[in-house]
Amino acid sequence: MQKREELRIFQVREQTITNKKRLSMTPVKYPLVWQKNNFYIKIFCSIPNIATGILLRAGEAYIVIDPGDGILRDLNTEIGTKRILSISNVFITHGHHDHVGGVWSLLTYLRVMQKKSPIVIYYPKGCVEIESIHHAFMKVYGKTISYKIILKEIKDYKTFKTKNVTVKPFPVIHKEYLGDGINTRQVPALGYKFSFEQLKICYGGDTAYCEDLVKQAKGSDLAIIEAGHADDTPDDMHMTVSEAESIGETAKEYFLVHVPE
Ligand SMILES: [Zn+2]
Repeated sequence: MQKREELRIFQVREQTITNKKRLSMTPVKYPLVWQKNNFYIKIFCSIPNIATGILLRAGEAYIVIDPGDGILRDLNTEIGTKRILSISNVFITHGHHDHVGGVWSLLTYLRVMQKKSPIVIYYPKGCVEIESIHHAFMKVYGKTISYKIILKEIKDYKTFKTKNVTVKPFPVIHKEYLGDGINTRQVPALGYKFSFEQLKICYGGDTAYCEDLVKQAKGSDLAIIEAGHADDTPDDMHMTVSEAESIGETAKEYFLVHVPE
């Protein structure tokens, strides 16, 4: 009972500090959907240590971002087999399991359903998780695959265009614990800004507060900002709610995601 009361007070506090631009409440209720003209994004979920899964649609192009566990189920419900087969690009922000856990099942499904068109997977340089999944996948299915998987390691932060979407990758700061649970190391991690027909969506992935995200989020039509830090003490893994809000407020609208449940 006491817990419920605390939660209610927390929600009230959150709502009073929420500006109209902020589109997701705390705790976050998924899915989160945003659309302007032909640019559409659906965040099926973004739950720390469990799963993220995002679908981006730009006109006729279907793009998946951070396919965590459950992505296939969510895509099947959302767009069905035919459109899943038309997915052209996958963008990975970093290799943590809650962001790549659905890659194997997605690639396998595309093989079983006889995808013909190629799929391009973009990922940060040094992301061994994606290379390992791809390597293992090719070892098992390389001789019987119906489509081409193109790995594109992002080595710099140059803007490029794919399927009429302009993509600006940018570096973010994200770490993980070593086996001792105390020391940390930096992991290869990117954020992406996607532009389509004058509209811009900025997604920071998992990151501590960083200037590159501040710069890219500013003025975007939608910013998707993680607030994965459990308390209010800043660290170098995730952002606190107030850090994330300060960045989100500089965009036209924003979602806070990856908030601990
Ligand atoms: Zn992470």
